[in-house]
Amino acid sequence: MQLLASYLSGSWSPGSGPRTTLVNPATEAPLAEVSNGGHDLQAAFTYARTVGAKELATLTFAQRGALLAALAKAIHGAREELISLAVANGGNTRGDAKFDVDGGSATLSYYAELGARLGATRLLADGEPIQVGRTARMGGQHVWGPRRGVAVHINAFNFPGWGLCEKLACSLLAGMPTITKPATATGLVAHRMVELFAPLLPPGALQLLVGPAGSLLDHLHRGDAVAFTGGSATAAMLRSHAKIIEHAVRLNIEADSLNAAILGPDVELTSETGSLFLADVVRDMTQKTGQKCTAIRRVLVPAEREADVLEALRERLGGIAVGDPSREDVRMGPVATAQQKKDVLAGIARLAEATEAVFGGTGEVKPVGVPDGKGFFVGPVVRKAKDAMACAPLNDHEVFGPVTTVAPYSGEASYAADFVARGDGCLVSSAYSDERDWVATFVGAAAPWAGRLYLGSSKMAAMSPGPGTALPSLLHGGPGRAGGGEELGGERGMYFYMQRTALEGDASVLKSLLGSAS
Ligand code: NAP
Repeated sequence: MQLLASYLSGSWSPGSGPRTTLVNPATEAPLAEVSNGGHDLQAAFTYARTVGAKELATLTFAQRGALLAALAKAIHGAREELISLAVANGGNTRGDAKFDVDGGSATLSYYAELGARLGATRLLADGEPIQVGRTARMGGQHVWGPRRGVAVHINAFNFPGWGLCEKLACSLLAGMPTITKPATATGLVAHRMVELFAPLLPPGALQLLVGPAGSLLDHLHRGDAVAFTGGSATAAMLRSHAKIIEHAVRLNIEADSLNAAILGPDVELTSETGSLFLADVVRDMTQKTGQKCTAIRRVLVPAEREADVLEALRERLGGIAVGDPSREDVRMGPVATAQQKKDVLAGIARLAEATEAVFGGTGEVKPVGVPDGKGFFVGPVVRKAKDAMACAPLNDHEVFGPVTTVAPYSGEASYAADFVARGDGCLVSSAYSDERDWVATFVGAAAPWAGRLYLGSSKMAAMSPGPGTALPSLLHGGPGRAGGGEELGGERGMYFYMQRTALEGDASVLKSLLGSAS
């Protein structure tokens, strides 16, 4: 069986010691192994700080953008192989796998274009020049330049490809050498991507640690930056990590999120906006088997439409085949790990104590094309809550699987916004309405609680990717429970890896600094 190697200090090394086996979550067949340690991580950090940082510092934004374009091209070249790995190791259908792999290359391409636009310079202007002296001769200018340190990326199991690429696009374009660590259980896609990327990048620009983090964080120092995506318990541990505190290491957290979808009181289910709402809810429940941080977990509908919404969900979900994701007729695969299945079933059981069953009971399913008793399968589950605000299991716990709960409301926009807030901070929530006043009231009150608000309407329905798709041009991250982090959002995604410096001096010198490549 393949023993995956880490790429550290310029060479591939499998490490040593006890091993963890990566399996196919549909069949439980072993796919590869990783060792749980034995790497010289201090040497990897030193290599990044010395070799990687220097190499990247010589490059302009345009040159770093060209590197990102080469990485995107490498993914395109190995697309089918990467999709097959995602199907085998992630329990992804082909559609799910494309979402991860193509999402990764599209994000790299987006930042490659941004690099080209920023051009042959190494400093970014932050705002306009400011007159700070008595006359215009003395000026001020804020600029962004790369931080001198190492970017450490820790990713969740659900998007091994996209997660790697979206973080790497920002840190590399900003000019920071990066050590990336995918989640162990689904690490095959990220491992293969780094095999493809390594020959295309300057030495030390990108290193990979597969398997558990071990002492990774113990080597952090001043100037480093950690970008984490995962569960809130791990996030809490990172926040209190001694080295992160001691060296004031920058930490970006993307964690749990109880995303809501609200149907406006003006929307008929048969309208374009109503169809968009239903399609988004069903897509978010079933795409990646509901293992998307942006997936809709809580649904609020006008009381008079509740019965119709539940009936429509029953009908649509009833047609979805669950089983071996490598089969063409299967629309939803297993969850990624045995632990994940246990957690999802426990979450459904908690919900069941406070809600009524609508579809899928408590998640039992007979998957197609899978040997009896094998695989980490959970069927799609819809529950119904009587009182949206009072239902604690709905509002306090993210069930990271194909599960959603519907609750009725009066149609008031301010109540809808309060419901978004009840999740204590989310990555994204969506509202579906063609009533502009209703939308304005909703946005005004809900915005402090969401990193992104998706406003579904008849005008955009035909071209919408749905709220579950994180776009490189828009911020990804959210307040409160969602971790308080920010990623992507165009140029904004690079700021985490850059130092903002206020320059003060001869205004013509300041102007020339921004225009030059030095
Ligand atoms: P997790 O258990 O927190 O793991 C996330 C990552 O942290 C993995 O790479 C894991 O490595 C690593 N890790 C675990 N312990 C660590 C430690 N002591 N030091 C350093 N790294 C450590 O989360 P998960 O189960 O992979 O992901 C599911 C969760 O992620 C869900 O709750 C979901 O909401 C959240 N999520 C959020 C977003 C977002 O953008 N906000 C996106 C996706 C997922 P190992 O795999 O080796 O343990």
